[in-house]
Amino acid sequence: MTSKAAQIDTFIVDVPTIRPHVLAMATMRSQAVVLVRITCSDGVIGIGEGTTIGGLSYGEESPEGIKLAIDTYIAPVLKTCEVSRVAETMSKIGRSVVGNHIAKCAIETALLDAAGKRLGVPVSELIGGGRVRDRLAVAWTLASGNTARDIEEAEAMIEARRHSIFKLKIGKRSVADDVAHVAAIKKAIGNRGSVRVDVNQGWDEAQANAGMKMLEDAGCDLVEQPVARDALATMARLSARHGIPLMADEALHGPRDAFRVAASAGARVFAVKIAQSGGLHAGRDVATIADASGIGLYGGTMLEAGVGTAASAHLFATFPKLAWGTELFGPLLLTEEILAEPLDYADFSLGVPTGPGLGIALDEDKIARFRRDRTAPTLHVVAAKGA
Ligand SMILES: [Mg+2]
Repeated sequence: MTSKAAQIDTFIVDVPTIRPHVLAMATMRSQAVVLVRITCSDGVIGIGEGTTIGGLSYGEESPEGIKLAIDTYIAPVLKTCEVSRVAETMSKIGRSVVGNHIAKCAIETALLDAAGKRLGVPVSELIGGGRVRDRLAVAWTLASGNTARDIEEAEAMIEARRHSIFKLKIGKRSVADDVAHVAAIKKAIGNRGSVRVDVNQGWDEAQANAGMKMLEDAGCDLVEQPVARDALATMARLSARHGIPLMADEALHGPRDAFRVAASAGARVFAVKIAQSGGLHAGRDVATIADASGIGLYGGTMLEAGVGTAASAHLFATFPKLAWGTELFGPLLLTEEILAEPLDYADFSLGVPTGPGLGIALDEDKIARFRRDRTAPTLHVVAAKGA
């Protein structure tokens, strides 16, 4: 039986965050979630998400650009494909559309969701050798920008048994001020949790040298992307000099980057992101290169809402080794749940959905309420200001 993409809908939903999320390059007060719904000619519907962080401040694709790439360039190709053949469809799209990894990830996710529903299996069973775990450790990011508030937030998370791995967003203040902030939080938490930092490319090599030494002394476990994503020689020198592992994130836009970083010994840990990699299969390739190179794995996030988070969970559940856990907390940062049933967060971990496809469904009332193209003009202005 053939299956064509009968209808492709893309829409942006603006969902407020529970608190300002302070990063080196932007402060987020809401998240612009790009969703795609592919209705197939056999009646199966697949859902995907392509979400980025902080508009255009984190990467080269914006929420509006992701929607435009799908509507204008990917959808016409998709309509010519036999969409039950996911790899062939993505290959065809790849021949017409260069880059645009987040847009491609949204489409591949929707196709895999549909394929899983059609076959009656979870997406994790359609990738690699299938699922090797049912739950994933989940880190929380402390990014209020205030030390006392971050400690309070960490204590509450440990108490609720929701998170014991904490990632601190730094790089905005001086290195000394940032390290003092990290050291105070590590001192408060002690052995009850892991403290890690993400500099989001905020340092040069001299700052990173000083910072990594002090962070190691403070008991910090991991330094994520301290310098520019293409500064591979710098990353290699930092990795060689310091005992504290350097994790590559922004440096990894798919398997080719993964090979370059691994070959140059630029990182000891990789943050795998389905959106940044260009989809679940590309993310799987990044992980395979890491594993073959003796590089540890961490499941990253673009602060996706429930759809992208579930898709990431399905991929990360297939990794034989996942030493550093994941940061799939995106839905918990939002004030509203856009899934009909929230994902299962308990005991410091996320349960990987077990139903066919992604194993989730959208809350259509919430989607209608937060859709940018259907929101009342006054509310839209408030949301846009905070983006
Ligand atoms: Mg990062």
